[in-house]
Amino acid sequence: MPEVLSGKTVSQASLAEIKQRAEALAAKGVTPKLAIVRFGARPDDIYYEKGAKRTCGQVGVACETAELPDDVPLADALAAVTRLNDDPSVHGILVLQPMPKHIDATKVRHLISPDKDIDGMSPINAAKVFEGDPTGYSPCTPMAVMEIIKHYGIALKGKKVVVLGRSMVVGKPAAMLLLGEHATVTICHSRTQDLAFEARQADVLVAAIGKAKMVTKDYVKPGAIVIDVGINVDQNGKLCGDVDYESASPMASMITPVPGGVGSVTTAVLAKHVVRAAEKASQ
Ligand code: NDP
Repeated sequence: MPEVLSGKTVSQASLAEIKQRAEALAAKGVTPKLAIVRFGARPDDIYYEKGAKRTCGQVGVACETAELPDDVPLADALAAVTRLNDDPSVHGILVLQPMPKHIDATKVRHLISPDKDIDGMSPINAAKVFEGDPTGYSPCTPMAVMEIIKHYGIALKGKKVVVLGRSMVVGKPAAMLLLGEHATVTICHSRTQDLAFEARQADVLVAAIGKAKMVTKDYVKPGAIVIDVGINVDQNGKLCGDVDYESASPMASMITPVPGGVGSVTTAVLAKHVVRAAEKASQ
């Protein structure tokens, strides 16, 4: 059976370091602070927000929510972001996505100050990730994938990595971060012909397609490392990944579970990014 890559183990190691850095800031009179912008009260947003607040609380990062009504006019949403940009006590801004349909998400993303954009939503940070410039903020989830890979000492140089999914939140930035570690990266998407064939070429397979249990044993080369980013609900209402764990895991040498994998590390990365932004602001 494969080695299970525990997100909890990775986040615990990371949180200890983040806490020390937050304490050093507190000694200088600075409390790192995250502001979450939430539209309405979608259950998955509330779930993510609760997790983020819990993690931030553990390491001394303050967290506040700017809750906007579902039908908030765009001008008011932009005004809320501007207020947070201008508030020196706020170091990081996270706008929960997807935003309501009537909100021009591009306008919101472009407005967030790149220095406070701790989930890599602004075009400046996207460009930095694509350039391999470490002063930028990557979206937290692909960075969580990298933290797991680093923690478990997985060598990427020259390895074939296949990323399933090409969103700006996960797939594309993950591909760029993996490329930055000298992997040979293939990005697949909904128009890819013979997805299973492409996936089977991977030494490391990263699944981020948002399709419950789609990645079966037919997608996994024997001995491959499988990182499951997906967060879905199966027919029985249970949380599951994009990978069919029962089918795929016997093929893999290492695999992340869902829950308890990438998702557990994402909020630790979020807290780390807020602390980094606070350190930079207080220099
Ligand atoms: P999106 O829906 O934005 O993107 C999905 C991507 O997968 C698209 O590029 C799409 O291709 C591709 N895709 C969809 N269906 C197929 C298919 N049948 N075959 C091949 N490719 C397909 O999702 P996200 O990137 O935002 O999220 C992906 C998954 O990761 C979701 O399960 C989400 O819940 C999870 N997630 C987990 C987080 C965590 O912290 N662990 C955080 C964020 C997301 P195309 O571009 O052609 O449409």
